[in-house]
Amino acid sequence: MTNGVFITDSTNGVRIRADVPLTIRNGYQVRVVSFSGLSDQLEHVALVFDGDSESSDAPLVRLHSQCLTGDVFGSTRCDCGGQLQDAMDRMAQDGGILLYLIQEGRGIGLYNKLDAYKLQIEEGMDTYEANQHIGQPDDARDYKVASEMLGALGISALKLLSNNPDKVDQLVNYGMKVVARVPTEVHVNADNVNYLEAKIKKSGHDIDLSGACCSWHE
Ligand SMILES: [Zn+2]
Repeated sequence: MTNGVFITDSTNGVRIRADVPLTIRNGYQVRVVSFSGLSDQLEHVALVFDGDSESSDAPLVRLHSQCLTGDVFGSTRCDCGGQLQDAMDRMAQDGGILLYLIQEGRGIGLYNKLDAYKLQIEEGMDTYEANQHIGQPDDARDYKVASEMLGALGISALKLLSNNPDKVDQLVNYGMKVVARVPTEVHVNADNVNYLEAKIKKSGHDIDLSGACCSWHE
C-alpha cells in the first residue's frame, strides 16, 4: 500500500505487518492493518477510515474491545454492537481509526463472560458482582497495545470516541495526547439497562440514561 505514512520509530519495535484494503458492511472502504511486535502477542487490528475530512494531526480514534456476542450476533445484553456500528458510521463519514482489540468480556475472555452472564441472569448479580463471584477482575483491560498500534500508525495525538474515562487516562499514561473525548451514542434496551447503570455507578462511565425511553424505568 502506498497511502498513509507509517512511522515505526519510537514504538518499541512495533511495526505494520499488513495493510489491506477491504470493503465492509454498508459498502464502507477501510484498510485493515495488522502489526508485528505487539507486547501481548495477540491479533489486534486497526480499521483505518480515510473519510472525507480526515484530520491528520488528531484523528478520531475508538478503542473497541471485541465482543463476540454483541458485535457479531447482535446480543441485547450489552451495547457493544451498536457502539461499533456507530463508530464505523461516523468514521466512514469523517475518517478515523478503530482499534479492534482482542479483549472479550472486558479482558476476561469469552467463556468467563458467559459464566458471568449466567450469574447475572440466574442470580440477579450485576456485571461487576458476577465477575467478582467467578474470581475475575471488574476490568482486565490494558491499553498499552492500543498505544503501540497508534504509534506504529504514526499517531501521537487523537480525539477519543468513548464514554470511558479509564481509556483516556491509560492512553495518556502510555504517552498519547488525547485532545478531546467525544461521547458515543447510548444504546439502551430492557436487557442492557442494568448493565449500563452498573457501568455508570461502578466504573465512572459518562453515560446519560435520563433521556432514554421507556417502560423499564417506569
Ligand atoms: Zn458486549
